[in-house]
Amino acid sequence: MPLWEDKIRKVVPYTPGEQPKEAGIIKLNTNENPYPPSPAVKRALTDLPDTDLRKYPDPAVSELVGALASRYGRKPSEVFVGVGSDDVLAMCFLTFFNSKDKTVLFPDITYSFYDVWADLFRIPYETIPLDDAFRIRPEQYIRENGGIVFPNPNAPTGRAMPLADAEKIIAANPGSIVIVDEAYVDFGAESAVGLIPKYDNLIVVQTFSKSRSLAGMRIGYALGNEKLIGYLNDCKYSFNSYTMNRTTIAAGCAALSDEKWFQKHVGKVIRTRERAEKEFAALGFRFYPSASNFLFVTHPEKPAAEIFEELRKRHIYVRYFAKPRIDNYLRVTIGTEEEMDVLFAALKEILA
Ligand code: PMP
Repeated sequence: MPLWEDKIRKVVPYTPGEQPKEAGIIKLNTNENPYPPSPAVKRALTDLPDTDLRKYPDPAVSELVGALASRYGRKPSEVFVGVGSDDVLAMCFLTFFNSKDKTVLFPDITYSFYDVWADLFRIPYETIPLDDAFRIRPEQYIRENGGIVFPNPNAPTGRAMPLADAEKIIAANPGSIVIVDEAYVDFGAESAVGLIPKYDNLIVVQTFSKSRSLAGMRIGYALGNEKLIGYLNDCKYSFNSYTMNRTTIAAGCAALSDEKWFQKHVGKVIRTRERAEKEFAALGFRFYPSASNFLFVTHPEKPAAEIFEELRKRHIYVRYFAKPRIDNYLRVTIGTEEEMDVLFAALKEILA
């Protein structure tokens, strides 16, 4: 063993969903939007003068921050942006979960990056079990803690929590920061953004990756009161001032300018999800209602791991987590109508 070994920060990293290289794959494994982004994005990228790339980008990302502030009815000082919501959430963990001894709380079945960040930053944490129907129980979060984070809708379950329940958690914890991760909120859950003026301990995190079809651009943001956003910026500027590059900023502003595209495509994904629910049910799958762009399904007869492998052989990728309580479930991203046709034809064959 090298002599320096005990001085290294060791972590077990997050495992992102596969990005297969071969063509002709039906990719329903990482909750990407199946539609290309607003055409305004491509125009903005084409129009970007290459002479601009010579210069550093605006460290405050004022243009995108301003556009987000007006979209959500907040002040620019209440908006923080980062390289995908993963970057924003990592900054939030670093900034807000800094208690030495109190544990941060999040659900036992949830976004599998939370425990990775907690371990990376040496934050003590405890997981709180979802109930048997995969619901977050707000009363379980009314106890001493060093901070709270949960997605709404939750992932990988897709289940949304009523805003009143989220508010119970926020209201009961004035002494710690509550982060509501709204990566999938646009597909049918109630956002907590409207609660920001009422609670000074609330941070809401959202992303352009899902509902704005820009997973490849990496844009995420946090909304909260000026003081909290100020603390987030202090940490960011102590780490890397230029997290967002000029192309990303241009793409983000363009995407945000096209509200019509946004409404239309979110609607399309929701309609395909509704159709998928019918088809999964007809094939005997069981699932809870989803407020996201994916369904979390289980079959009473055929093990999820087997269905996963059979789909893969047919070049259809979905997500399988070999984890306690969910190892008989598949998380299936909603694709285009045509992709779902191929998926259901394959499932019929596999289950025959
Ligand atoms: N939160 C949740 C619950 C997610 O599922 C994801 C997607 N992996 C993210 C945050 C991060 O998404 P992004 O970094 O693309 O914004």
